[in-house]
Amino acid sequence: MRHGQVRDMDLDEKDFRILLSLQQDARVPLKELAKSAEVSIPTARSRLKRLKQMGIIRRFAVAVDFSKISGSVDAFVTIKARPSDLATLTHSLEDAVEVRDLYITTGEHDLIARISLPDMRALEDFVLKRLGSLPGIDSYRSSFIVEAAKESWGPTLRPGFGVKIPCRKCGKRILGEAVTGQLAGRTEYFCCQTCHSTFQEGRLQMSNSLSQGINSPSVVEEC
Ligand SMILES: [Zn+2]
Repeated sequence: MRHGQVRDMDLDEKDFRILLSLQQDARVPLKELAKSAEVSIPTARSRLKRLKQMGIIRRFAVAVDFSKISGSVDAFVTIKARPSDLATLTHSLEDAVEVRDLYITTGEHDLIARISLPDMRALEDFVLKRLGSLPGIDSYRSSFIVEAAKESWGPTLRPGFGVKIPCRKCGKRILGEAVTGQLAGRTEYFCCQTCHSTFQEGRLQMSNSLSQGINSPSVVEEC
């Protein structure tokens, strides 16, 4: 990892415009992207690269119209969990391929999951057998989706939005300036120099013990 450098984590109006254009059409030509953000093409390119490096743009994907696809039955399941089991339950549901989206919520329910299966029978099986057998669930209720009257992808972007990137070491939200380092070709973000150094030392130790163990140079895989 390269020595930590400080990078400003704030996004501005131009980043907002770039993201908004891409959210509407991810295939927008760079020339048009630059025009909508009122920047030069090289600036648009470098801003785009930065947004990808920061992980704000996770990937470019296709939005398929749910109403035009057959062979998929979806439902929303609201779940009330026992407080002590909420984290474990959340992880179990995150790992289930049937769970498309999962939200931790406030109010009457603790979790809302959107699940997707090939037919009604499979969906009922999943809800009654799999979900019903998971520990930590106090109660749950499911509603089948008859029709998607309106669907959106990703967050609603508004002018003046901020970023919330967690520190790679301590997990705290980074406010203001971040310390960055390169690891396996990826930019990692830290809240302070201490977190950066501790993380770096940990990696070094892991790398050393691995090479001693197998008596040859080793590569530490990024998790
Ligand atoms: Zn930290």
